[in-house]
Amino acid sequence: MNQRIERVRIRIRRHQLDALLVSFPANLRYLFGFSGSSATALISQDSCHFITDRRYEIQSQQQVTDAEVIIAQSTLHSEFARFKNYLSQKRVGIEAEHLNLREYQLIRKQLPDTRLVASEKVVESISAIKSAEEIAFIEAAADICRRIFPGILELLKPGLSELDISAEISYRAMRNGSEKDPFEPIVASGLRSALPHGISSSKKLAAGDLIVIDFGAMVNGYAADFTRTAILGNPTPSQAGIARAVNQALQAAEAAARPGITGRDLDKVARVELAAHGYAGFFKHSLGHGLGLNVHELPRVGEMSDDPIMAGNVITLEPGVYVPEVGGVRIEDDFVITQEKPRNLTPVSRELVSVG
Ligand code: ZN
Ligand code: ZN
Repeated sequence: MNQRIERVRIRIRRHQLDALLVSFPANLRYLFGFSGSSATALISQDSCHFITDRRYEIQSQQQVTDAEVIIAQSTLHSEFARFKNYLSQKRVGIEAEHLNLREYQLIRKQLPDTRLVASEKVVESISAIKSAEEIAFIEAAADICRRIFPGILELLKPGLSELDISAEISYRAMRNGSEKDPFEPIVASGLRSALPHGISSSKKLAAGDLIVIDFGAMVNGYAADFTRTAILGNPTPSQAGIARAVNQALQAAEAAARPGITGRDLDKVARVELAAHGYAGFFKHSLGHGLGLNVHELPRVGEMSDDPIMAGNVITLEPGVYVPEVGGVRIEDDFVITQEKPRNLTPVSRELVSVG
């Protein structure tokens, strides 16, 4: 029996639904092991149907063992016609945050007598707690980041562009076992390091630049997400001060990352530490996020989050300080939450690294 699907069934009952329609690829991968990009599944208490298209006929036979597989002859949604009577007057949850309006209308058309109920995070709330096997995949991805990082630092020289470094990161991660970039590597230097989500540009590295380097790797669909900041040359006192504050904010957050604390309270620990160093208001994003088949998933770790942090979660903690016209520093590690202290999957020195 597929335990993950059984957990979905418990939630279907709890939400007083008759069935759940799952269409988000990461959720389909989590429940069925399907790694394709186009499919949808209908899970009820007594049946489970998995609809995909002809491109995935062979792949779905190999991967999907816990559902009756239907190969759509035209569009995926036209296959819903076969459930019209079965789902008449039933309450069927749809993944409101993933389905677009057009898909919704197509489903609506095929199931005119069904009550479609906007549901959120049904599968996500289950997949936020990782198995030992899933943690091993994330750890393998984190190991790739850790292994290639020293070589990336050696590349940092005046005259090379952010995109040059970004391309090397992608290449080296793949040569070391990453399936793909879970997100485009961020190399943000000089004044651009003060952009909390600056993407890599053609700007060339120059002496005195702070360089925020944020990249990941992927193993079996599971992502790692890692950031360090380097300085080309020697830091000024203010650059060193920013780096020290961010480092201590991460240490404080790590110490507080125990089961039971909410995402909001954990975020606050880092924010209070940064304020004590004089950087209140310069930390312009959430402290972190859950990590798994998605780069950003539950639990949310930020000012707006009531999510309790739980044992078995894998989260990032990534405080940053961004001072316009000066520069920015971010440090990000990936942690497994345990009953004891969290286990750091990216144990690399957090000091501001002088290079070049
Ligand atoms: Zn990151
Ligand atoms: Zn992150």
